[in-house]
Amino acid sequence: MTRERTNMPVIEVTELHKAYGEKVAVDDVSLTVEQGEIFGILGPNGAGKTTTVECVAGLRHPDSGEIRVLGLDPRHDREELRNRLGCQLQESELPGQLRVAEALELYSSFYRNPADWRSLMADLGLTEKRDTPFKKLSGGQKQRLSIALALVGNPEIAVLDELTTGLDPQARRDTWNLIEQIRVRGVTILLVTHFMEEAERLCDRLAVIDSGRVVAVDTPAGLVALVNDEQRIRFRPSVPVSDELFTDLPEVSDVTRAGNHITITGTGNVLAAVTSVLARNQVVALELRVDQASLDDAFVELTGRSLNA
Ligand code: ATP
Repeated sequence: MTRERTNMPVIEVTELHKAYGEKVAVDDVSLTVEQGEIFGILGPNGAGKTTTVECVAGLRHPDSGEIRVLGLDPRHDREELRNRLGCQLQESELPGQLRVAEALELYSSFYRNPADWRSLMADLGLTEKRDTPFKKLSGGQKQRLSIALALVGNPEIAVLDELTTGLDPQARRDTWNLIEQIRVRGVTILLVTHFMEEAERLCDRLAVIDSGRVVAVDTPAGLVALVNDEQRIRFRPSVPVSDELFTDLPEVSDVTRAGNHITITGTGNVLAAVTSVLARNQVVALELRVDQASLDDAFVELTGRSLNA
């Protein structure tokens, strides 16, 4: 089933706080997730991501704060929410002997309006493995099954926690393609990750969480724009050129040389300005490389450390 995308909030978290004894896991988290978007929660290990989504799913009770999911209170309306929010949580294990098709059929029986589990099995590329016991599946296949189980209740929201941790790069890319297909169905996705590339590739918007607090919420591009938008253009000119060609451009802040290479630093449309000057002077930029701020740079700027260090 495909759902229309609207700007209605489907998840609203306000001033969430949760401690385990002395340990404050979530200090102050507020966020709003709109219908149909892929909303990422990005942060290092121990930042409070899992605790936050477990509170959203009604699996943990907050110490304080307000949570509304599809207008429901996850603490009091757990049964109703169970039918409308699907969870693929970290390290979800099934009995080793349970076969893929059996697991899907069993889980579909838990829901009021389940999806067609056979077509879900096909969509997730698991039909060939339908009679394989859980314990004999590869990491990627287990991951796909856990995504299928999160979707088998035909939920309006799917919570996916660290879904590509432990997968090899190819399996990770395949999983990303799958998530993009799920997005097309209009399911709102709350995605927990500590992979920058995953967040950048999949998420419409992101909350960056550090030490139990939200430090920024924006689109991946918006977060990158929060940091210095300086760019560095490095190339070897096909014929000698003078620095003045570039220093006269308002977008350029610095020109340096190392051997035959020129590095131009600037902001805004500096790349377009430099390439048009080169074209006007019939100079070809050989070995051209452009470096600009990444989501990782934004993370460092926001939290003072690198996420994937
Ligand atoms: P990870 O990516 O490692 O799962 P996370 O960002 O999801 O991290 P949480 O799992 O929410 O973070 O944990 C936040 C903090 O709370 C961590 O310091 C963690 O050790 C602690 N914590 C989590 N669950 C418990 C628990 N059941 N009892 C005690 N402390 C806990």
